[in-house]
Amino acid sequence: MGLTKSTISLLSQELIEEGWLVEVEAEPQPLQARGTGRPPTPLMLDEHRLAFIGVDLGLASATVVATNLVGKILAEHSGPVDIASPAQTCERVAMMVHALLEDPELRRRGVVGLGLGVPGAVDERTGMLRFAPNLGWKGVPLRDLLRDALAGGPAAQLPLYVQNDADVAALGEFEFGEPPVSEPLVFLGLGTGVGAGIVVNDRLLTGAGGFAGEIGHTVLDAQGPRCSCGRRGCAEAFVGLAALVQAVLGQDSAPVTRDPAMLLRSLPASVFATGQAVHDEAIGAALERAGHYIGLLLQNLWAAFDPALIVLGGPTCELGESLLGPARERLAHYAEAAGLQPPLVRQARFGRLAHAVGAAAAVIHYQVRPLSDATQQASSMIAADAG
Ligand SMILES: [Zn+2]
Repeated sequence: MGLTKSTISLLSQELIEEGWLVEVEAEPQPLQARGTGRPPTPLMLDEHRLAFIGVDLGLASATVVATNLVGKILAEHSGPVDIASPAQTCERVAMMVHALLEDPELRRRGVVGLGLGVPGAVDERTGMLRFAPNLGWKGVPLRDLLRDALAGGPAAQLPLYVQNDADVAALGEFEFGEPPVSEPLVFLGLGTGVGAGIVVNDRLLTGAGGFAGEIGHTVLDAQGPRCSCGRRGCAEAFVGLAALVQAVLGQDSAPVTRDPAMLLRSLPASVFATGQAVHDEAIGAALERAGHYIGLLLQNLWAAFDPALIVLGGPTCELGESLLGPARERLAHYAEAAGLQPPLVRQARFGRLAHAVGAAAAVIHYQVRPLSDATQQASSMIAADAG
């Protein structure tokens, strides 16, 4: 880093005082290995002091978690939300956050900030939600609304970070993974919506308007079924959870609900059984077909970003290997055809809490890597253009 020893000492002292680092006992060294100077003091990330709050805002429910600096979940709370009005949704989320903060253990720790993951494209600099087709929200100043809702409570002064849910889930894998974490890292979120979060060169790839990674709206078939975004033949219209449930149940029209928990509950129990061929042929074929489409998405993500690691997450993953097996097969098939080694594909470390834990990880990520002024200016210019 080109810094002197005394500068490093000074900086680490500051990080120790703030609660990020802790000095630990040095392992006793054999006599011949000792140098002439003062013995070095090992520093570790401090697991016992700071806390980070993450909120996963879903289509019918929200989940709030608190984690420590290395991703251990300290507290968790879920509840239903009504998405009819963004301001009321934020008030409900604020109530859940305040309830979580009543935990004396969290209060003893210093809470550093709050991250919010949402199923839509977000401008991370302004906290403006640009477009969330499944919520039916467009141009919502989400960070400001949440700030208003938190006013007067214990979280009123906390730094707030709003980001796309697949993006924060990617940060959860990146910040809380065993170092060194492979990158580029792609998190593919499979639920009612389908989206990817991409970490490359130590940063999220968000795009000019926050739309990067909206892989669910890449078109797989120009003549395909209508998608939530208004286009035809998007990936989401084939492998989004509503489309998948429709295919498995053999219905003519899409289910009325978009709530992923309700969608999963509408499926026969045999679908979730592990092992092959436990369900009937038509269901097996529908899952396999959807799995192959997910394989197509994996192939496209591979071609676009050459990731070292692809993480699969989201409620749809509860369908297990009868869906994900064919997806991996399809990717392996493409790899073989090109004579290349496919990227590593594995399931999300935090399972159904991937978004909420990721939102807590986003606080760490942005605290350690503040957004620069240059990008801030570029962003406000884009915002001005968009009116
Ligand atoms: Zn679409």
